[in-house]
Amino acid sequence: MFMHNKRLQYTVRVSEPNPALASLLLEQFGGPDGELAAAMRYFTQGLGEADPGRKDMLLDIATEELSHLEVIGSIVAMLNKGAKSALTEATMEEADLYMSINAGGNSHTQAILYGGGPALTNSSGVPWTAAYVDTRGDPVCDLRSNIAAESRAKIVYERLINITDDPGIKDALGFLMTREVAHQKSFEKALYSIKDNFPPGKLPGLAAYANLYVNTSQGEGDTTGPWNEGDQWERLDDIEGNLPLDGGDGDATVTLSKAEVKDYAAMAKRLASDPKATPVTGADLGGGPGAGKLSDEDMGGAADMPEAKKMALAQTKA
Ligand code: MN
Ligand code: MN
Repeated sequence: MFMHNKRLQYTVRVSEPNPALASLLLEQFGGPDGELAAAMRYFTQGLGEADPGRKDMLLDIATEELSHLEVIGSIVAMLNKGAKSALTEATMEEADLYMSINAGGNSHTQAILYGGGPALTNSSGVPWTAAYVDTRGDPVCDLRSNIAAESRAKIVYERLINITDDPGIKDALGFLMTREVAHQKSFEKALYSIKDNFPPGKLPGLAAYANLYVNTSQGEGDTTGPWNEGDQWERLDDIEGNLPLDGGDGDATVTLSKAEVKDYAAMAKRLASDPKATPVTGADLGGGPGAGKLSDEDMGGAADMPEAKKMALAQTKA
């Protein structure tokens, strides 16, 4: 069950209203790397988790992320507090009010549509979506994804810290950023607490391809490093000479029933293209000087120009 404690996980001290900054901070409220996405990702993983240690950790972190959602949402609410009451009470002149809610970002949408409250959107006003939760229900996949998600959240907080000079906001964002680092550490430890964690799943990779590095982008700039060179790697530079990699004919085949073969042949015959055709198309008929040179004609009039085009040009000159 959930209970609510009225004290925030971290104190929010905002110096002054700033609706434009509030819009930017929504990135961590309802954005892809934001706190709601994190909370929902770990909460749903926790419910489905069979391992008692991971279940406990996921529910702990999910609940903490909800507490972060509360902190970032409270900062947004404080930053919009002035705009909210100004709009509701309409005590400003129209022009002044117009200027104040158009302070930047999507602050006008925040004011008009959401009344200055923290809305579950990203910083551009795109509504939050469950598609941000990329859980696959396999702990070694999901922990890797969680590690990446925490690192993204850390970077977004860092960027937000860099754009504000409000010391109270900087302080609270610094706390939130640091907690993402701590979560990344927990997820890394949990991943490596699973003895066989690579590759994900039960099936091993095919031995012939598991250590193959395919140098598909060749030319100046080709670089070697631990990602493609050394004991763990077989490097393939002769791509053409080794196609297809399985030694087969590289064709795609399927066995069809007699009825399917018949239908397929009829379809192929009906839709066959004629490589010898010389069709006049809308582009030929409609093309003028502004359309540039058409097919193989000379702009002055080539001998092999389509009849219809010759007629169209003759009419124009007459
Ligand atoms: Mn968080
Ligand atoms: Mn986190």
